[in-house]
Amino acid sequence: MFSILVSFRVKRPGSAIAVSPVAAVSQRVIPGNTSSGPASHRCLRAIGPLAFLLILLAALGLTACGGSSSSSTSTTTTTTTSGTPDARADAMLAQMTQAEKLQMVQGGVTTNLTYGYTVPLGAAGWVPANTRLGIPALYLADGSVGVGNGVGPATALPSSIASAASWDTTEATKYGTIIGSELADYGINVNLGGNINLVGREPRDGRTFETKGEDPILAGKITAAHINAIQAQHIVGGIKHFAFNDQESGRTTANVIIDERSGRESDLLAFEIGVKDSNVQSVMCSYNLTNGQYDCENSHLLNDVLKTGWSFPGFVMSDWWATHTTSTAAVNGLDQEQPNQQFFATLGQAVTSGQVPQSRLDNMVHRILRAMYEVGIFDNPQKIQAIPAAADAAVAQDIEEQGAVLLKNAASQLPLNGSTVQSIAVIGSHADVAVLSGGGSAQVQPIGGTLTGGEPCPPCWATVTWDLSSPLAAIKAKAPNAKVQFADGSNASAAATLAASSQVAIVFVSQWASEGMDETSLSLTDLTSTTPINQDALVEAVVAANPHTIVVVESGSAILMPWLGQVSAVLEAWYPGQNGGPAIADLLFGVTNPSGKLPITFPASEAQLPRPVVPQPPDGVTPFAVNYTEGYNVGYKWYDVNGYTPLFPFGYGLSYTTFTMTNAALVNNLTPSTNPNFQVTFKLANTGSVAGAEVAQVYLGLPASTNEPPKRLVGWQKVLLQPGASQTVTIEVDENDSSHPLSYWNTSTSSWTVAPGNYTVYLGNSSNTAGLTTVGTFTM
Ligand code: BGC
Repeated sequence: MFSILVSFRVKRPGSAIAVSPVAAVSQRVIPGNTSSGPASHRCLRAIGPLAFLLILLAALGLTACGGSSSSSTSTTTTTTTSGTPDARADAMLAQMTQAEKLQMVQGGVTTNLTYGYTVPLGAAGWVPANTRLGIPALYLADGSVGVGNGVGPATALPSSIASAASWDTTEATKYGTIIGSELADYGINVNLGGNINLVGREPRDGRTFETKGEDPILAGKITAAHINAIQAQHIVGGIKHFAFNDQESGRTTANVIIDERSGRESDLLAFEIGVKDSNVQSVMCSYNLTNGQYDCENSHLLNDVLKTGWSFPGFVMSDWWATHTTSTAAVNGLDQEQPNQQFFATLGQAVTSGQVPQSRLDNMVHRILRAMYEVGIFDNPQKIQAIPAAADAAVAQDIEEQGAVLLKNAASQLPLNGSTVQSIAVIGSHADVAVLSGGGSAQVQPIGGTLTGGEPCPPCWATVTWDLSSPLAAIKAKAPNAKVQFADGSNASAAATLAASSQVAIVFVSQWASEGMDETSLSLTDLTSTTPINQDALVEAVVAANPHTIVVVESGSAILMPWLGQVSAVLEAWYPGQNGGPAIADLLFGVTNPSGKLPITFPASEAQLPRPVVPQPPDGVTPFAVNYTEGYNVGYKWYDVNGYTPLFPFGYGLSYTTFTMTNAALVNNLTPSTNPNFQVTFKLANTGSVAGAEVAQVYLGLPASTNEPPKRLVGWQKVLLQPGASQTVTIEVDENDSSHPLSYWNTSTSSWTVAPGNYTVYLGNSSNTAGLTTVGTFTM
């Protein structure tokens, strides 16, 4: 049974935070993790309101709840007010006792919990303040698609994958600004966000909705825009899950086997761009193993690649309970255990015995402190205040309208004309009241309330949550003179009867997904209804009754569409966020012209995937190999190499207008040693009758000697044009960009290398090879 929750406790500045959403964190158990102890859990829970908790912790030096205490009880503010973040961190470090240092490198949640826990401010983790030295507490909360955990009601943004589908870093900046500013308004100062795992390897991954798609450059640039905007709000930004955390099945034991070059050119390249382009200050290492070593103690990933190779100055925190050892983890690059101190409780002894050098502990603390100085936590004291809900909701709607992708529009079925359409059947997916969201730690409790129901198993701990935003009401508002009726879709023949008596049918189909699970298949599978609805059969029944059938998809990833040939239009709305209803109506009625492009390939069948079946763990504890035999051929590159024709290619999306790209020319500026680049210039024209935006995409083919796939995305630009207008567009591809557009990873020299030979430059509006224009070639 579903229940509608329309109200949350309203947050008041300085008050304890809403109670009901806390349950999402406090009852969560991560399969495969032993955690914690009832005594400490009771301790944290019994303390009560936030204000009292903070006073008590300060007074007790945290010892009562298992935190470390400082060796002195005197309270002074000793932070410097000027200097570089590194210099200020060193100055602070010089004043710290060993106990104070150890307190910084572990979560404040106490050990030995057997079930959930609570954290001040409803966060997912924290590091208590050091009152003696004036080091603020760290409050860590999820924020992939809006403020998560039990922090409080917040703006539920469209899925991150919708942000990527905008192909627009300006839109992505708005996305990050909402997350960062709302975290700050709740007093949170560390964001557990930036999910950049590459879904092209496994589109059934239940966390696909949190990611930015299959291409390292698109994902890296969009993620960097999010993080830059978040850190501008004095929040330590995060990027996760480092690395190769590409499936949820057996996520704590999956042992990814991948060669160095393939890793560098795919998942690691996305992280490299995200890290370098954003100055991100925290990296979350992942549960899985890579080449036999748990990622949170994988010296190659943490020390060689991240800290040495990319000069990452910030700190590495573990995913929740993803730490496996004390000394090995510390020496191999982990800087902070979260959310507790299961292993780092004995770090002090490991330093005393010489297993972990003192210099390493100092470096761990330095990294955390410098992150806090870098983003301004010391200089901008916590200021809890109400979030500007209405303004943020409008941005959430805009982001959805820029990220939804029009996949089919036969005979210009769309946009609907609100003044002439006479009757509309709206069918399925609770479209009378709500839109779907993705589950897990990214779950947002939206302002405006939720429709909830069910805890599918797996993951067994995430509640299906629909954001209360009614597509039906928004459609009625757009067509005030039309008869607009709703059928819930539980009875296909009733829905078909309604469709037959209506001019147009709009079927909403949905696919719930969550952290802690993978989808069993890319076929629509109803996990949310007590009696599951066969949504493919529903669409087929409706379209048989009325050929003017439009399908709106609410999903976090690709789906298969057996009915694609019959229906007249398809709009991929992703999980559209708390203003999904009005956003979808704006798109269907042409108030907004769709301009999103797919950040992932939609396969024609699961047989086209590198692994037709998601590899499954033998049990909950034994590492099992997941062989990335596809290497660096992820997403569209895999389809290109194998000659597969997908259902929809990467980069694809339609508009209500038409565009031409003409006079394409290549400008070669690659010879100078400073700023070597090439440019693609062309004339982009809107040849239709309405304003619209096109995403022009530049792909590059490398010399055959490199054995690279036929092409890779190297640049793009989204351009808005009025009807009949045209513009000369230049897309510059910089050889020295963090995306290494011209290079391959050379394992002999362990460096990015430009191979001698011929390069071919393509221009188009999707990765579909047949639709690309060859702009020119150059030789290196
Ligand atoms: C997830 C992380 C999340 C953390 C805290 C883990 O289970 O993998 O993405 O940030 O929980 O909620």
